[in-house]
Amino acid sequence: MKPFCTILSALAAALACLALGACSTLSDRGGYLVDTGHPARYADSRVQFLVMHYTALSMQDSLQVLSQEAVSVHYLVPDAPESAGGKLIAYQLVPETQRAWHAGASEWQGTTELNGTSIGIENVNPGFRDTPQGRVWFPYSAKQVELIIALAKDIVTRYHIAPTRVVGHSDIAPQRKQDPGPLFPWKALADAGVGAWPDAATVARYLAGRAPNLPLPSASISALQAKLARYGYAVPQTGLLDAATTQVIAAFQMHFRPADFSGVPDAQTEAVLDALLEKYAGDWTPRPPAVAREPE
Ligand SMILES: [Zn+2]
Repeated sequence: MKPFCTILSALAAALACLALGACSTLSDRGGYLVDTGHPARYADSRVQFLVMHYTALSMQDSLQVLSQEAVSVHYLVPDAPESAGGKLIAYQLVPETQRAWHAGASEWQGTTELNGTSIGIENVNPGFRDTPQGRVWFPYSAKQVELIIALAKDIVTRYHIAPTRVVGHSDIAPQRKQDPGPLFPWKALADAGVGAWPDAATVARYLAGRAPNLPLPSASISALQAKLARYGYAVPQTGLLDAATTQVIAAFQMHFRPADFSGVPDAQTEAVLDALLEKYAGDWTPRPPAVAREPE
């Protein structure tokens, strides 16, 4: 009976095919047929952003939490990656086609809830510890940086992710997050073609002879807020150096001027931002949202 049914359904499909005049584009989904003969010209990838994190956990705890608890991420890069055949090994915990729960409440370049539109990379790193001498941040190992670069470069190439859309958790949630921290190798990534970094000569031009640490006059704050928003940050447009604005400035400094991320708006901060806006002027277009929880 079954072979006969199969023959009948094949015959029916062939007849439908002839009737539609599109035989080569019909596919049988079991209970129905689908004609794929009219692919849309306008569509794009789910993946628009690449978000970097640190786990603030050991490798073992990172794997446990990110694979078993109600948080997740596409890739986990160990602090001491193993290798096979001369190549370093990253862990993939979520397929790139699926949404991982790593970004939480977040916003960048007008898009909110970035879980739906990003790939997340968690890097095993303890973050920081507070000592009597102040806060101490943990460095990323050379092997880990090598693996982060190889992985990130592959992702941004495959999805054509614009430089200004390679971001840290602290960039997209500056009021709540500090990862991946001031020692994250953003410049090394940019040197390898991943993400944004300002050109020194352009920064010097915008600095225009001012001392780098010269605080900006209060009249410049509204312009700085507007530029930070244009670059991608969710920042108040109050014209005031309020607590939320200071947090955003600190997040920007942590990414692009990590030697000093006090949050004080100074001439160099402004010059770096101006240089970035000039260099990546074509990068900005807004997109829509999605939701969930996130790990560190
Ligand atoms: Zn994070």
